[in-house]
Amino acid sequence: MTGTVIVGAGQAGTSVAESLRKLGYEGRLTLVGAEVFPPYERPPLSKSYLLGEAKKERLFLRPETIFAENEIELRLGTPATKVDTTTQSIRFGDAELPYEHLVFATGSDPVKLPAEIGGSLEGVHTVRTLLDIDEMSPRFVDGARVLIIGGGYVGLEAAAVAAKLGLNVTLVEMAPRILNRVACAQTADVIRTQHSRHGVNIREGVGLKQLIGNDKVIAAALTDGSYIDIDFAIVGIGIRPSVSLAQLSGLKIDNGIAVDHFGQTSVPHIWAAGDCASFPYKGDRIRLESVQNAIDQADAVARNILGQETMYLPYPWLWSDQYDLKLQIAGLNIGYDQIVSRETGAGLSHWYFKNGDFLAVDAINAPRDYMVGKRLLESNKTILPSEAADLTIDLKMLLRS
Ligand SMILES: Cc1cc2nc3c(=O)[nH]c(=O)nc-3n(C[C@H](O)[C@H](O)[C@H](O)COP(=O)(O)OP(=O)(O)OC[C@H]3O[C@@H](n4cnc5c(N)ncnc54)[C@H](O)[C@@H]3O)c2cc1C
Repeated sequence: MTGTVIVGAGQAGTSVAESLRKLGYEGRLTLVGAEVFPPYERPPLSKSYLLGEAKKERLFLRPETIFAENEIELRLGTPATKVDTTTQSIRFGDAELPYEHLVFATGSDPVKLPAEIGGSLEGVHTVRTLLDIDEMSPRFVDGARVLIIGGGYVGLEAAAVAAKLGLNVTLVEMAPRILNRVACAQTADVIRTQHSRHGVNIREGVGLKQLIGNDKVIAAALTDGSYIDIDFAIVGIGIRPSVSLAQLSGLKIDNGIAVDHFGQTSVPHIWAAGDCASFPYKGDRIRLESVQNAIDQADAVARNILGQETMYLPYPWLWSDQYDLKLQIAGLNIGYDQIVSRETGAGLSHWYFKNGDFLAVDAINAPRDYMVGKRLLESNKTILPSEAADLTIDLKMLLRS
């Protein structure tokens, strides 16, 4: 009996499998994963797990028994290596399975530093998998010197954990400021201030020139001509969609595996969801790297496999925890031309607008603002810049209008 094979046992892959079963799919379901662990969530990796507060078992998305109970065959530690789109079969490990539907949920891979600049020295780490964290955790000891390369969310979260554990932290960001690609300057300012208060040395407009060491990294040369001695380095310079197998299989790639509004790739019977998939959005093609996108897009793909013609409409939200700051983001700020700040005693939020249209909100310790922003976007309502700025307006009232 042919069925559905899902490549990638991460957030999106697991969600496709679960949704299919919930929706009544009765075919054979196989979830193929390159990693040895049962499906797990990544957000705690750079937060509570790295800090030592969350146990490994707490990261697993579901108890392993759930997969058996739902007749979802888990094939872990076996990367899929070949897809034959003519005979509709897929190879992983020694096995070859026919498929009626195939879903790519292969996620993304961290960008690595080239070996020429020291990327393969011992003590150089990336932050993507459980194994990555297990490897670097023993280095998080009081007084150790760490260089973090890249001031995006993952690098900043790792910096916060390191500072909390008493490490001596330097973070370099080649762009003029941290969070340059993802957040407004006002949000970056708040985060930078908090890091400075905790002793993190953030150096913006400064890149890495070379990691130095024989086998193990011991120092770094920076683009401003300075050198620093370090015990280890963490590379957080972004991710790339994991598309190599899809490319080999002849699927169209365009900033990820190109899918349409329904999650359908350029090849019949093959779908994609999560970090690896790029989809049409407001006349453009985008890719999102968030848990919520993985879950919602996966659900749409499951429905479409069952012929329910469900368009995927993203209502993105994500979060970042650094020290006692809880940053919650709703919406997509692409192309913003105006920021309105709203500060109450408890928290602060920055509202993004384009030509006066509300796009997104960054809420820092301001869960109410986040909730209102998210609900406005989900219900296709809006807020004027003047309303966002006006503290006499109860934002919740806007939801009723
Ligand atoms: C440290 C960190 C912190 C994050 N924090 C947040 C956060 O706070 N909020 C948020 O919303 N998002 C966060 N994210 C992003 C979020 O985790 C991802 O967007 C989400 O995991 C994407 O799910 P996915 O299923 O597409 O990919 P993944 O969860 O990465 O799963 C893809 C899986 O496919 C496997 N795979 C790849 N190729 C093959 C193959 N050929 N055969 C078999 N298996 C294969 C991979 O090994 C991987 O296990 C964070 C990510 C990281 C790394």
